[in-house]
Amino acid sequence: MDLSGLFMLSIVIPLYNEASLIDELVARVVSLSKQIDCEIEIIFVDDGSTDDTLEKLLKHRSAHASIKVLELSRNFGHQAAYTAGLQQVNGQYVAILDGDLQDPPELIANMYDKLIAEELDVVYGKRLNSSIKHRRPLLSILFHKLFKRLSGFQDIDNVGNFSLMNAKALQALLEFRETNRYLPGLRAFIGFKQGFVEYQRSDRFAGSSKMTFSQLISLSSDAIFSFSKLPIRICLYLGITGIVVFFLAGLYTLIAKIAGFALFGWSSTVLSIYFLGSIQLTFLGILGEYIFRIHTESQKRPLFFIKEYHN
Ligand code: UDP
Ligand code: MG
Repeated sequence: MDLSGLFMLSIVIPLYNEASLIDELVARVVSLSKQIDCEIEIIFVDDGSTDDTLEKLLKHRSAHASIKVLELSRNFGHQAAYTAGLQQVNGQYVAILDGDLQDPPELIANMYDKLIAEELDVVYGKRLNSSIKHRRPLLSILFHKLFKRLSGFQDIDNVGNFSLMNAKALQALLEFRETNRYLPGLRAFIGFKQGFVEYQRSDRFAGSSKMTFSQLISLSSDAIFSFSKLPIRICLYLGITGIVVFFLAGLYTLIAKIAGFALFGWSSTVLSIYFLGSIQLTFLGILGEYIFRIHTESQKRPLFFIKEYHN
């Protein structure tokens, strides 16, 4: 804790093989102390990088007392890395942002001003680039639209991890014990008084995306399946519709038979078997998504392991 009477702002940044942008990142984050009158603690989480990320971070740490480096035992994914960093926070306020400079660190000052002026508990960044025209991938746009609709959270589209919150909101966020985590969803879930600042999300400063396509898919399905019962509801509604349709079809066949205009053919039989079979497989898949998550939650595995905390 700070002894100067100033409050402390902690900044949590997960990094995975980002050696090429660390110098720029550190320079921009460190200079935040000129914008906000506070003590700063910067917690870089090295999520099992295999390049020089850790060495570079440790070099900067020897030059800046505010830098701390949390070294995880391997790559656990960026949601786990954020959680690991959040558990080490000492400040009264905490900002979280991606380390690739797509989230401009300078915006934290605006978030802070808003948080204080409007007495908010959370201020998150809302991306202005909401269309393909703004070089946003189509899949990302679709996911955000779908998630907003399914989760029922207002104002969750075009929102990522980038945010600033006070200790009360952080405490709430740390109480979630689930393994399948989607931080923007959990942050919306906690409630309190929230606001946002808008910003243009730029391209990453250097290097390429560290989230593989399959990681993105699994993050979006974690978001959808852990915040919505709609997929499972669709199974039920379609199942009921199927029963009604086949009941009517049965009735029709019976009448056709009695009236003597029945058409016989194996194709309709085979097609309906295929149809039902594929619906059942799809629904088993959807159920499987929930069961798999129940399974991982019941395993209660730790989200990450800390190799060393250089603080
Ligand atoms: N990241 C991480 N662990 C991972 C993947 C990514 O800590 O397994 C970090 C990465 O270094 C970056 C942030 O998470 O600071 C966001 O990743 P990225 O920019 O690659 O994701 P995208 O913006 O492409 O979704
Ligand atoms: Mg990025």
